Amino acid sequence: MTALDGASLAARLSAVRARVDAAVLRAGRARSAVELLAISKTKPASDVIAAYEQGQRSFGENYAQEFVEKQRALAHLGDIAWHFVGRLQTNKAKSVAKLVTMVHAVDDEKLALELGKRAEGRDLPLAVLVEVNVGGEASKGGVGPEELPRLLDAIDRIGNLRLAGLMSIPPHTDDPEGARPFHRRLRELRDAHGGAARLPTLSMGMTDDLEVAIEEGATLVRVGTAIFGARA
Ligand SMILES: *Cc1c(COP(=O)(O)O)cnc(C)c1O
Repeated sequence: MTALDGASLAARLSAVRARVDAAVLRAGRARSAVELLAISKTKPASDVIAAYEQGQRSFGENYAQEFVEKQRALAHLGDIAWHFVGRLQTNKAKSVAKLVTMVHAVDDEKLALELGKRAEGRDLPLAVLVEVNVGGEASKGGVGPEELPRLLDAIDRIGNLRLAGLMSIPPHTDDPEGARPFHRRLRELRDAHGGAARLPTLSMGMTDDLEVAIEEGATLVRVGTAIFGARA
């Protein structure tokens, strides 16, 4: 794991904030409507601290073991909101359910049930997003649009969980505009299944396509590389 020095991380983070601000402005949305989630997977705890010192408070991780270790090392920073954004195996639900604010990539009822069970005793319910496979790619997680209503209804019935919205990872395209139809599709699915009242969070957009995602209604963008540098 290579660490960036604090000054270059601060510069990167402010450049990303400027991109978010500009996109929000262009889209005519309120700045408070979009949250920047810093994806710190594979990066050392010292990088998280450097971003924290610049005021960043929400961080996303992908790998359960790595997350648990990093969370423990940083537990003294009590106001970090951790998000788990990766694919979560059911047998790892136990290790994250008490430590994170939100789980982004729920795509099956068994995982949701396990998260609900393991979230027992939290002060606040565990917020969960349902991942939608907007590109229909066999290699990716997420439910197909036709399976979405059933999983949303199932999660509504599970104790200790709060259904918070939808998440997607669109197919890779070289041009960020290529992601636009997929982001739009996620917003349309949100609108078709209860709108922002039921599904307030739309987690979409990463380093390459965060502007397009914000223009299409993202309320949370997940940015790794632009903040922390390339991953090994
Ligand atoms: C790694 C990752 C990101 C961050 O991607 P970048 O292109 O580095 O910004 C966002 N979301 C998920 C689910 C990821 O796994």
